[in-house]
Amino acid sequence: MLCVRAPGRVNLIGEHTDYNDGYVLPVAISLETRVYAQPRTDALCHIYSETLDEQHVLNLADLPPPEQLPDGFIRYVAGVAAMLQQHAGRTLTGVDAAICSGLPLGAGLSSSAALEAAFAVLWDALDDLRLERLTLAQLCQQAEHRYAGVRCGLMDQAASLLGQAGRALFLDTRTHAMQHVPLPPDWAIVVADTGKPRALAESDYNLRRAQCEQAVVALQGVLGEAVVALRDVSPEQGALYLPLLEEPARRRARHVVGENARVLAFLTALRHADTAQVRALMLASHASLRDDYEVSCAELDAMVEACLQAGAIGARMTGAGFGGACLALVERAHLERFLTDAERRYRARAAYEPRFYACDAAAGASLCPVEI
Ligand code: ADP
Ligand code: MG
Repeated sequence: MLCVRAPGRVNLIGEHTDYNDGYVLPVAISLETRVYAQPRTDALCHIYSETLDEQHVLNLADLPPPEQLPDGFIRYVAGVAAMLQQHAGRTLTGVDAAICSGLPLGAGLSSSAALEAAFAVLWDALDDLRLERLTLAQLCQQAEHRYAGVRCGLMDQAASLLGQAGRALFLDTRTHAMQHVPLPPDWAIVVADTGKPRALAESDYNLRRAQCEQAVVALQGVLGEAVVALRDVSPEQGALYLPLLEEPARRRARHVVGENARVLAFLTALRHADTAQVRALMLASHASLRDDYEVSCAELDAMVEACLQAGAIGARMTGAGFGGACLALVERAHLERFLTDAERRYRARAAYEPRFYACDAAAGASLCPVEI
């Protein structure tokens, strides 16, 4: 029997930068998914999710294409198996596996990447594939693209597979350069779910992407072909040339250019445990997402306000937007008081049922010892 754990993630700063070739700073969190698996002597898999109380059967020797699979979690598992098999050029070992999870599903904490990462690490060990973690992350990303139909960046899978305890993961989404950045040990990470479901429709998301592309084309007119994505525009160039753009592309681009600079400034602030600067950068990120990128909502604004008034070091919305969760950084010594106070303050402002998850920065997916 093997057991694998794989963490969810939250992004400290760098929102809507990933599809602009920019920077992100996720943390693998101590809420995780576990897979318990018994290898078989054939290529069959019986995969049971305790979370959903649902079981599926897969034959690794004859994996169906995505469109022939039912919607739902088996697509992620089949996707990972298919990508690993394609990469390794052989059929993997069948398993009887059970999935359980302390991560809320669909709450923006990337339970999907945790599920993929867990199965990737499982088969990597079982079939002695010895793949690099970055390769596993890329194969999981491919699985999510092709089998779940979600065109995600690499952030979620990288965080779940490459995270380190006590550290955030700085990721350059263009070059895939990474750096593990220590977090001050006395800071806790709080995910504050507004209770309002995420509602960024695909159309809104695609519209934001298109407006960023419009901005790139317009900026190429003045800055030349060196501008491939908004990541190539410095804050100084932004100040000079963004005013030439039409609305709303101008404000969308201003968010992205500013947000990339904020990620870099945040790294320095973290190194010095500079609470004032961390707070300022998180507030600037939230304001920019609210006013320039226009992806916040009354509940996210109310939650950020409640967290700040309850004594958070900093708080901001996280995830795609129009609902979902905020992230707050909180001094550990004040955590209990913070949680009670923030909840009371949010409830006074919003009609939704909030949920608070206090977590630490956890290590990336790993095999764990099992006692049978
Ligand atoms: P998020 O990744 O933010 O949690 P997604 O919509 O991307 O939200 O992924 C959620 C989906 O991932 C679920 O609907 C389910 O298909 C799959 N999933 C994640 N965790 C589990 C689990 N423990 N058991 C079964 N399916 C899971
Ligand atoms: Mg997901």
